[in-house]
Amino acid sequence: MTLEPSDRVADVPPSGIRRFFELAEEMDDVISLGVGEPDFSAPWAAREAAISSLERGRTSYTANRGKRELREEIADDVRRWNLQYDPDDEILVTAGASEAIDLAFRALVNPGDTVAVVQPCYVSYTPGVTFAGGEVLDVPTRAEDEFKLTQEVLYEEGADEADLLVYCYPNNPTGATMNREELAEVAAFCREEDVDVLADEIYADLTYDGDHVSIAEFDGMRERTVVFNGFSKAYAMTGLRLGYALGPADVISAMNRIHQYTMLSAPTTAQHAAIEALQTCREDVEEMRDQYDRRRNFVLSRFEEMGIDCFEATGAFYVFPKCPGDDAGQFAEDLLEAEQVAMVPGDAFGAGASGHLRASYATGLDELREAMDRLERFVS
Ligand code: PMP
Repeated sequence: MTLEPSDRVADVPPSGIRRFFELAEEMDDVISLGVGEPDFSAPWAAREAAISSLERGRTSYTANRGKRELREEIADDVRRWNLQYDPDDEILVTAGASEAIDLAFRALVNPGDTVAVVQPCYVSYTPGVTFAGGEVLDVPTRAEDEFKLTQEVLYEEGADEADLLVYCYPNNPTGATMNREELAEVAAFCREEDVDVLADEIYADLTYDGDHVSIAEFDGMRERTVVFNGFSKAYAMTGLRLGYALGPADVISAMNRIHQYTMLSAPTTAQHAAIEALQTCREDVEEMRDQYDRRRNFVLSRFEEMGIDCFEATGAFYVFPKCPGDDAGQFAEDLLEAEQVAMVPGDAFGAGASGHLRASYATGLDELREAMDRLERFVS
């Protein structure tokens, strides 16, 4: 008997982003616009709350669903987006949004169910569906729509036959956001075609052109939607591994049934940090958001100066320019080799993304300036 990975796992390729990190790690003086995490540290008050919880010996498990106080804070916080969820049975605190996404697939997908995955997208959805035994239907958005999801695309790709639709806005990797009218169209489609939704809203706080809108606030959508969010992006807490899911009680209960056996509870120290973050760190979030916005404007204006075609991304911390060369994968490799600037080819994020590059501006302005100068030298 040898230890062989199951077919389900063996068939899933390793993440396409990792290869670039590995290449970049072998080189000196690399400026990475490849990473998908904040360059800031978590707000000091949140870190101090974590330290203090440890000093007080708070090192036990919490309730499976997360500390009651944290669920109450989350319930309060999401009212900003017109979302009302009961801390008792409609909120589940998880080890990052990543765990919440995985739980939702496993709790909702039956073998052979079709999950429409809106792309380009964060790299975990397609493998997550596969691990849960579902079938992925690729739903590529279009560059000419600035990578927004439209009814036309949904119908054209056959998503009306899907059981579940998963998407992320503000989007990773494109930085696209959806406004109220645009989302209303998607909500109408979901009601009409009886398609349920998993809405990854982890970048909700990082929007630069109007407030974030959640699909769960539309009539008839709350009962068919699970929303994911977390502390990694807005609060710069990636390493603390804390996220949450919002949804109807029966779905949250089903997700919790897996969570209670596989995770027990999300990291306790991180939960203490998150309570503090929600209570007192709003200004820190705004300050980071303003800095991202300044960097975003800088990068977009430099692209324009260089003649690089890039739509105005209005969310997250990514821009998604059209690759100036024919082959984005080759371009990214050559750029890394010649100028030590790392960007990720769009293909790593699924369908609809080829010929594009993802550049993250979760990097200080000085480094961004240098990276743009190097890019300019390379393209000219
Ligand atoms: N969703 C998206 C769209 C992301 O970009 C990320 C992180 N890169 C995650 C989920 C996972 O976040 P977490 O750290 O909360 O697991």
